[in-house]
Amino acid sequence: MTGTRQAEYDTVIIGGGVAALWTANVLKNAGQSVLVLTNTPLGEGQSLAAQGVIHGGLKYAVGGKLTDSSEALAAMPGRWLAAMRGEGPVDLSGARLLCDHQLMWSLPNMVSQVLSFFGSKALRGRSAAIAREDYPAVFDTDDYKGKLFRIDEPVVDPVSIIQELARGVEAETYLVGWGKNASLESVESQISAIILRDDSGDAVRVTASRYLLAAGAGNGALLSEIGISSPAMQLRPLHQLIIRKRGLPDFFSVCVGTSPKPPLVSTTHIDSEGRTIWYIGGDIAEQEGVARTEAEQIMAGKTLFAKLMPWIDLAEAEWFTCRGNRAEPLTGTGDRPPGAYCERIGNLLVAWPTKLALAPNLADEVLRNSEKSTGQTNPPLALPHPPLGRAPWELP
Ligand SMILES: Cc1cc2nc3c(=O)[nH]c(=O)nc-3n(C[C@H](O)[C@H](O)[C@H](O)COP(=O)(O)OP(=O)(O)OC[C@H]3O[C@@H](n4cnc5c(N)ncnc54)[C@H](O)[C@@H]3O)c2cc1C
Repeated sequence: MTGTRQAEYDTVIIGGGVAALWTANVLKNAGQSVLVLTNTPLGEGQSLAAQGVIHGGLKYAVGGKLTDSSEALAAMPGRWLAAMRGEGPVDLSGARLLCDHQLMWSLPNMVSQVLSFFGSKALRGRSAAIAREDYPAVFDTDDYKGKLFRIDEPVVDPVSIIQELARGVEAETYLVGWGKNASLESVESQISAIILRDDSGDAVRVTASRYLLAAGAGNGALLSEIGISSPAMQLRPLHQLIIRKRGLPDFFSVCVGTSPKPPLVSTTHIDSEGRTIWYIGGDIAEQEGVARTEAEQIMAGKTLFAKLMPWIDLAEAEWFTCRGNRAEPLTGTGDRPPGAYCERIGNLLVAWPTKLALAPNLADEVLRNSEKSTGQTNPPLALPHPPLGRAPWELP
């Protein structure tokens, strides 16, 4: 039997990464009815490709002073750690904290710049020098001639973050295929309804007080389909390195070089077979790295490690790369905008967090742009729920 029923929500969220899921939890816990529609396994855009660094802005202050970017980020480590203690509007108590800090380290010729950077007033209380006898295993060698600092920026496990966020809105989240079991209707650059069709052919005509476009790189196509040209989207590609070897020591770090961008940012993960992964971003993964083939990027990585950390034996390690696109509103300069971005256009909210770390900021903005709940409730939809996506080193 086929038919069409109506369902009305306070907010329909299109997306399935950290932005969609964090915001869905916040809105649901604020008493709103929410529906989350994703077209891929959860997090399998940027969110599971993220290194999981909850920036407090210090990386962006490497040039010597705190920037807009570093100020917008300053509160994020505290907010994430509170969520991971089960405090606040989002419960991440089941998620994994990989490390509660990062190391900031320097090349030997950079020691004086690093000392003055860490001595600056702006950074006082947010970092501390590590005494030689306390060096962690990865730097516990006389061959390292630089200085080590601890910065209080935690690193979270993106897979467990997405899993826990998904758990909070499991019943409200569905997998859709646009042009298959889902279609979007728009009138005068506004979404007027979303039609969802289950396996039996029954249709639900979904309407909402507001529609949040939080689909990362997918926002571009959605905006075109609705007929909106501004905000436009920019994509900033990355070409990350993955180094896999059993028993590698923990390496959560930001390296300070001569340019404002750190040459290397490292995080450590354990894969499903218990092997250690060093996941490497930073300047090596940016423009020149993006232009390299996989083989060239691996060669560049091996050369960089041999230069920066000759005492680390990576001869037996397996090297891979993965590519990702950071999706953001177009800034004109090609840089990342300083904070989370959320613009209201009639019944649409167009959003990019611009950083995993800034998901709480984005949810604040969406909540600020949401009227009171209409109090409407809806029965579950007869549609599949999405699976959890995989980290880049688990993908074929
Ligand atoms: C390699 C890399 C490393 C990074 N490291 C960090 C880091 O260490 N710290 C940090 O703070 N930030 C980091 N970032 C940035 C961070 O990952 C992103 O800012 C953040 O994950 C964006 O979340 P999102 O939910 O907006 O987008 P995504 O995670 O890309 O999610 C968008 C989701 O929307 C869904 N979707 C797409 N199109 C549609 C559609 N048409 N209909 C329905 N659903 C759709 C898909 O499920 C997709 O997964 C990194 C980014 C990259 C690429």
